[in-house]
Amino acid sequence: TIGQNLKRTVDKYPDKEAVVSVYQNYRATYREFYEQTTQVAKSLLAKGVIKGDRVGIWAPNCYEWVLMQYATARIGVILVNINPAYRAHELEFAINQSEVSFIVSAESFKSSDYRKMISLVFEDCPSLREVVFLGEEWTEFLKQADHIFEEDFVLIEESVQFSEAVNIQYTSGTTGFPKGVTLTHHNILNNGYFIGIRLKYSVKDRVCIPVPFYHCFGMVIGNLCCIAHGATIVIPNDGFDANKTLQTVQDEKCTSLYGVPTMFIAELQLPNFKDYDLSTLRTGVMAGSLCPESIMKRVKSEMHMEEVSICYGMTETSPVSTQTHIGIDIKKQTTTVGTVQDHLEIKIVDPETGNILPRGEAGELCTRGYSVMLKYWNNRTMTSEVLDDNRWMHSGDLATMDEDGYISITGRIKDLIIRGGENISPKWIEDFLYTHPAIADVQVIGVPSEKYGEEIMAWVILKEGQSATMDELRAYCDQKIAHFRIPKYWKFVTEFPMTISGKVRKVEMRQIAIEELG
Ligand code: ATP
Ligand code: MG
Repeated sequence: TIGQNLKRTVDKYPDKEAVVSVYQNYRATYREFYEQTTQVAKSLLAKGVIKGDRVGIWAPNCYEWVLMQYATARIGVILVNINPAYRAHELEFAINQSEVSFIVSAESFKSSDYRKMISLVFEDCPSLREVVFLGEEWTEFLKQADHIFEEDFVLIEESVQFSEAVNIQYTSGTTGFPKGVTLTHHNILNNGYFIGIRLKYSVKDRVCIPVPFYHCFGMVIGNLCCIAHGATIVIPNDGFDANKTLQTVQDEKCTSLYGVPTMFIAELQLPNFKDYDLSTLRTGVMAGSLCPESIMKRVKSEMHMEEVSICYGMTETSPVSTQTHIGIDIKKQTTTVGTVQDHLEIKIVDPETGNILPRGEAGELCTRGYSVMLKYWNNRTMTSEVLDDNRWMHSGDLATMDEDGYISITGRIKDLIIRGGENISPKWIEDFLYTHPAIADVQVIGVPSEKYGEEIMAWVILKEGQSATMDELRAYCDQKIAHFRIPKYWKFVTEFPMTISGKVRKVEMRQIAIEELG
């Protein structure tokens, strides 16, 4: 179980730093961290929380988040990660959908007043009994621990089984309403452990985690992976901030840095990027969405991350299904998401027939094995849509597998553009447009067209101080790519609609485009 795994690390490295929260100016050794998780776990029990209950955490990245993650796991409570970007409506949905009885919440984050939003929805959430806010209330709450006998606590901890659910994580909501992915100790602990093996993690590693903990990237690839290997979790800030991230890497001498491609792009774009000393970095993880080859190359050379690892996966598979090994061929590292993670199976099938496709042909990637979720919480219909009778998880992603087993993700089935019967990969066009010197970031979508079914639209973010007109970009395409791949519509923006985990919401882009095009 996750609790036993933590105990093992604590016994081996009691005085090593477990968590450093830079913005909270707080450091905890493994021993301190362990003792505090005991205190939090006992306090939850004192509040009447029992094994199997759903307890929510609604807070941006902070030390207490990691405490809650381990405290709940130790007593068999199911932690429900509530996205810090949620507002009242989504909050109410998540609480009711997973029947949360108890919540630990921040007072506020960015411009949202969490206390106010919780009071707004409280009446409409019949399962919810109590909310504790971080700050003074949290300090009071921790005193409850004294009411629990040590023997009782040990009995409860020992009754926890690895096959039991430990977590409900809502998916990013990139393609629609988030789904409550229910994961066991066995699912996520193993995944975290094997991810760390490929990263060659050891007690020497200090891992800078600017990606959100509410998401599997932060909590599994981040926290669980670090603790399984005795590494140090370094939290630069509550939300993502490119400067604070690089400052933290420098000051805390981090050896590894995480991010989704858009975060790495933001860091590389900083005018003062060259001022940061990133020489302690040896590796990192990039995951979450497609990364253009040119960005990958810059991350490797300009950020001292020669050995950056690419992970591909989804919340439903704990998340990682494929990962690059450290030290592989540069071409494979920049163009693929690696090979199947240890002890898992993957296959690429024709989405229509379900038949396995020959190497090199694009189809739907499916995963089977220890990492595949138990189910979507309280949603049999959706579970059976993605998990087939043989427990293959169907990803909805398009991918190819080469002769050596390396996987390339080519996009989401839902994002594929079909123009006049021609299947057009948005990723292919995005990769091409990145070669234009004035383009900092670009996203390509399909918009409805009476004539062709769909037309191509490009959203472009220009580099600071650079300019390019629609006609110039069109002319650039004209000389180099087939006419049917050239975007008909162009839109210049300064940012894309994003999920808080840093993914571009193409669904929202399409809605905006449809409204604007009329
Ligand atoms: P929702 O399921 O709610 O629409 P989501 O699929 O974005 O949201 P996540 O589980 O956070 O929710 O993300 C998984 C998806 O992210 C994958 O299915 C894939 O499309 C994409 N993804 C993850 N890693 C990579 C990667 N390395 N390269 C390309 N795409 C990736
Ligand atoms: Mg998904």
